[in-house]
Amino acid sequence: MTGLLAPGSTIGIIGGGQLGRMLAMAAARLGYQTIVLEPQADCPAAQVANRQIIAGYDDAHGLAGLAQDCAVVTYEFENVPVRAVELLSADVPVYPPPRALEVAQDRVTEKASINAMGISTAGFVPVDSDDDLVDGLARFGGSGVLKTRRLGYDGKGQRVFRDADAADAAGVYDAMGGVPLILEALVPFEREISVIAARGVDGAIEVYDPAENAHRAGILHSSTIPASVSDVTADAARVAAEAILTGLDYVGVIGVEFFVLADGSVLVNEIAPRVHNSGHWTEAACAVSQFEQHIRAIAGLPLGDTRRHSDCVMENLIGDDVLRAPQLLAEPDVVLHLYGKAEARPGRKMGHFTRLKR
Ligand code: AMP
Repeated sequence: MTGLLAPGSTIGIIGGGQLGRMLAMAAARLGYQTIVLEPQADCPAAQVANRQIIAGYDDAHGLAGLAQDCAVVTYEFENVPVRAVELLSADVPVYPPPRALEVAQDRVTEKASINAMGISTAGFVPVDSDDDLVDGLARFGGSGVLKTRRLGYDGKGQRVFRDADAADAAGVYDAMGGVPLILEALVPFEREISVIAARGVDGAIEVYDPAENAHRAGILHSSTIPASVSDVTADAARVAAEAILTGLDYVGVIGVEFFVLADGSVLVNEIAPRVHNSGHWTEAACAVSQFEQHIRAIAGLPLGDTRRHSDCVMENLIGDDVLRAPQLLAEPDVVLHLYGKAEARPGRKMGHFTRLKR
């Protein structure tokens, strides 16, 4: 893309969930149109977009439709097929770049790429058999976290080992589905933080302050800002996020998750090449949200200021939590956001709210 995306231009969004919905809303506020590519009709994003192409993420016809009608295309989740995005990028600019998607989709490639940028992660070994697992566990002193290399999210497809030996590894590879795995050293972290950062087409970078994240049953429960970390730790996380953005020649918003160790140093856990759940607080506490920031970045507009006007806590509304909405709306400093999902199934993200501390 050269120059700015003119008002009234159309932005394509691959994926129709709540992140796509919030991107479409931010795009509309900046005067853009949106088309959502998503196989499920009446998805959260399509409810607020100008149009939906109902097709699979790798459907050639659907992708051709996006390429024809959009000035730029982005995506709201990291499991979009890389090949589809590469083909699309021959016809229309796609941000973040396909390479970032490729790196984020495979935990081994992700950690190797991040380490190559001089940034620390947990130690890791690829695991393609029970024997590999035995070797890995021996290397990490009998402990570790075994994960699928691809298509894992919210802690799904993971197994933790402590004081394990060869007997504990027997049959595990097949039990995990016989797919490529990674064994990571078990990190004795004190807390988990994440940084939402953005890079523009011109290489400019803006970074929000770290959020401190708490998980329940493997799903993000809350993000607290500021995180209870020192300035040195916050700075280390910011510097790492900036290096990753530059290293990937990135355009758009990225979420970078970190483990904070007892000495205050940080290890990157994983990156998300998209807007991120732990950045939802920015919608309530900053002049420019992560969603607008992403639209600004991919549209070639100046990035927004990342300072916040209030400290805050963002909490997800999972399943029946959504029934709390009326009480939350009665509180003066709560900003509520619901995703337009009809059915509140257990474990399903229905909405979130941010409580401003004033
Ligand atoms: P992930 O899907 O990789 O983000 O992992 C989900 C959660 O599992 C993380 O937020 C951590 O709480 C925990 N976890 C993941 N990897 C490790 C690790 N190598 N050491 C300790 N805990 C981990």
